[in-house]
Amino acid sequence: MTTSKSKHEVSEFLTQTMSHNSNNTSRREWLKHIGLSAATVPWLVKGASSGLAEAQEINPVQMGESRGEKITITRVKAILTCPQGQRLCVVKVETSEPGLYGIGCATFNQRARPVAVAVDEFLDPFARGRSVDTIEDLWQNAYTSSYWRNGPVLNNALSGFDQALWDIKGKRAGMPVYQLLGGKCRFAVDCYSHASGRSLEALEESVLRKMEEGFRHVRIQLGGYGSPQLSRQPEFKNAGFGLETDGHMDARPYVQMTPKMFEHIRNKCGDEVELLHDVHERIPPILAIQMLKELEQYHPFFVEDPLSPEQNGYFKWIRQQTSVPIAMGELFNNPHEWVDLITNRWIDFIRVHISQIGGLTPARKLAALGEWFGVRTAWHGPADVSPVGHAANAHLDLAISNFGIQEAVYFRDATQEIFPGCPSVKNGFMYVNEAPGWGVDLNEEEAKKYPRPDDSGYWRPIRRNDGTAVRP
Ligand code: MG
Repeated sequence: MTTSKSKHEVSEFLTQTMSHNSNNTSRREWLKHIGLSAATVPWLVKGASSGLAEAQEINPVQMGESRGEKITITRVKAILTCPQGQRLCVVKVETSEPGLYGIGCATFNQRARPVAVAVDEFLDPFARGRSVDTIEDLWQNAYTSSYWRNGPVLNNALSGFDQALWDIKGKRAGMPVYQLLGGKCRFAVDCYSHASGRSLEALEESVLRKMEEGFRHVRIQLGGYGSPQLSRQPEFKNAGFGLETDGHMDARPYVQMTPKMFEHIRNKCGDEVELLHDVHERIPPILAIQMLKELEQYHPFFVEDPLSPEQNGYFKWIRQQTSVPIAMGELFNNPHEWVDLITNRWIDFIRVHISQIGGLTPARKLAALGEWFGVRTAWHGPADVSPVGHAANAHLDLAISNFGIQEAVYFRDATQEIFPGCPSVKNGFMYVNEAPGWGVDLNEEEAKKYPRPDDSGYWRPIRRNDGTAVRP
């Protein structure tokens, strides 16, 4: 289901819906227009016994505390589902207001079950009985409720909780979350898409397809991360070191071939398309500097994660030697990992995974920090972010002045059945559903049809020729 509509159309329907004079016909038309049914947006209906025709809207200004009643959290729960190969984790916050709930993304594909435990066994008892109104206060106290903090798992759980509270806030206000953040800075969210191929010719075809789809920004990879097909059969496997399934990648062939990849794509696809590339760590810092200097002549839009987070001190030296724009941060969890990089202007794009840093509340502060230091955003947007997480990325993208670019994603039919109201991508732009909150709902019965697979979800080990472990 796609729900992108023109701003004019949507605002016209929203106006109808929020009008005191709106009738059931306009409500039905609006719900149909945004691609949802009354059943999927129960916060819009109250006292309905037999469908939308008998439903009454909740007037946002009359809900909860503004009526003198405190709306409290009655339950926080994790929902795991796996409709397109990634272990998605969504947090649902239920409230004392009948039909009013929020959802948020807590996905950590490699450790899905621990996140669910952190939500169900720790955040749920923490949150029950507290007011839904005080997001900042709830975030601050949930953040320190474990005393030790700033790590994956707990940050993912906190993100799902935080985003669900923003969803509730938007529903109560009758506004999309981007409106709560100050409104749109742009009509839609410009995205980049991924092109890849094991040969230069296959990659060229992939880039041209993306350009035909309307993308102005394309990430280019020659094969998988680190172009492992360029490395020879590794000797660690002959020696019986590690497991047969372990991956292999040597640095030198990748570092030598990547500038040739840029040269080929620039020659064949032109100067207009913006080219991006993800090193995905994997190479020694000094080789990363050598390679970045060679890439400068091809004017990349950015080069992503040239170093692992453990090598943050090297960014200073990268900045002194090349003007290639640097994007960094999808593995960051802790403010100490990004504050120096931003305030020293050593990177150009901050691209954290919003559920790994604790949700919208810290992400909007991070965006604001970047604004003052000329650092733009490029939030991590892979398949292991749920549609509600992608919606959160996009709502923030719409509302911040220092937005840079967004990683595009496609949702399969099964995913869209579970999450009615998914963001949509057209002509290289992402559009959010204009319904209040994130505009994305969760069908729990559909989610149950796609259980978490039994395998561990481990990131596969990668080794050098001699078997040495490589940071991924
Ligand atoms: Mg990446």
